[in-house]
Amino acid sequence: MAGEEEFPLDVSPMYEGERVRKEDMFVELGGPTQPGFELVIYEPDAEKVKDGHVELIGPDLTEMEEGKAYPYAMIYKVWGPEIDKDLEPVIERRNHEFQPYIQGYMHLNQRDEIWVRISKSAMKKGLKSLKQIGRKTIELFKSELPFIQKMEALYITDKEEVEKRLEEARKVYRARDERARGLHEEDVEEFYQCTLCQSFAPTNVCIVTPDRPALCGAMSWFDCRASARVDPEGPNAPVPKGECIDPIAGEYTGVNEAAVRLSGGEYNRIKLHSFFDCPHTSCGCFEVAGFYIPEVDGIGWIHRGSKVRETPIGLPFSTIAGSVGGGRQVYGFLGIGIPYFYSPKFIQADGGWRRVVWMASDLKERVADAIPDEMKDKIATEKEAKTIDELKEFLKKVDHPVVKGVVRPVDGKKITEGWAEEEAPPEAAAAEAAAPEAAAAPTAAAPAQQPAAPQVAMPQFPLLPTAPAAQPQIQIPTTPAGAPVKVILKDANVTIGKIILKRKEEK
Ligand code: SF4
Repeated sequence: MAGEEEFPLDVSPMYEGERVRKEDMFVELGGPTQPGFELVIYEPDAEKVKDGHVELIGPDLTEMEEGKAYPYAMIYKVWGPEIDKDLEPVIERRNHEFQPYIQGYMHLNQRDEIWVRISKSAMKKGLKSLKQIGRKTIELFKSELPFIQKMEALYITDKEEVEKRLEEARKVYRARDERARGLHEEDVEEFYQCTLCQSFAPTNVCIVTPDRPALCGAMSWFDCRASARVDPEGPNAPVPKGECIDPIAGEYTGVNEAAVRLSGGEYNRIKLHSFFDCPHTSCGCFEVAGFYIPEVDGIGWIHRGSKVRETPIGLPFSTIAGSVGGGRQVYGFLGIGIPYFYSPKFIQADGGWRRVVWMASDLKERVADAIPDEMKDKIATEKEAKTIDELKEFLKKVDHPVVKGVVRPVDGKKITEGWAEEEAPPEAAAAEAAAPEAAAAPTAAAPAQQPAAPQVAMPQFPLLPTAPAAQPQIQIPTTPAGAPVKVILKDANVTIGKIILKRKEEK
């Protein structure tokens, strides 16, 4: 016991973002193969919180087998005169910030999707018990968030116990999400930023509004407001809304200004409810990844932890996630949180639910009550469509809106987008009616066509290939003669063989 108090590992923000790779891993806790969650509970009675106490139910590190994965729950009880229930999710989310300060301890994701790895070198340095991790975590919480005056932890690695308590935790998460649904962007003057994930995605711009909960699913507008109140210098500063430029796409001057500031100038426009045009950036924590399917001009969704292995575009969640993340605006992919499915503004710039053509079945079941009744039977899952051809057949059979085209407002006009079969323009149709032989006769400019095949009406935005691009491309812009050219190389390794410095001769 006395040996445990001497914490054997370095603890510093410089380890944030450190990854523990499979070959360096001693054990994995939670993650893709085992249940896991984290939960913070506010205890109003100070006497009921044993400050600094950590209890463990289940096998400890020294009883675990190297290379294996185990269930993992981290439940914290907190008390402080400034704390109330509103702060529970805020404190809970900071577990993702503070635990990675511990060298050799990787913490990813949130709520019931946590994924922890402990490195072999951490064990070699003398880490013996998860209780040591718990005590150090409490210490970090209390030093970084002084409004927490008492805190205790219960860590669980026993599978049955984790699964039992996971159900209770999910009830808490649901209650938090439901609370945030009555408020809308029009009702508030400010939104909130979140910079927690900038340590590993430096250009990420997380903006949380009443209608767009965080993409990690862990922070609602209420949570960010509570966080800003107790920790004004922390990650959740308010973002004044400014003027509303486009109420459908969700573009605000205040958000655009925040985008420039938070991304270091990388982005200057964010449309909160657009999938295709200046979409919200995605760091690595999104609960759900959306992907555009150009063949049907629709959108598919799959979530982290889905049992479904492949999507109609032939990629599993992990590959899609690699395309979405990194704090970038990625055209054709989008990371969102589960609560955003319940927003009345859910990708409304692109047709909302009428643009959704495919969902992993376990995701569709999970958010069934968010799907409008008229769309419930029109969205395919892997059970109906594993390939693009099967998806096309299904969509035609159920008369999905994309088959005829989704009508959406753009700049005050209504435009139709979707997988509409191209109709002949009215003039051509009239000419054909007047002189059918002439209209059908091939000319040099318009050679004879095969019987008309359905055409995919392509939207007016840059399309990504359905598989991630293999290599970044450098495009050298052309300018008027003599104008300076600025070339930005992103994610590039530059090798310089020789540098020659010459003194500039004075004339
Ligand atoms: S995903 Fe966004 S909102 Fe969630 S913790 Fe990271 S930065 Fe904050």
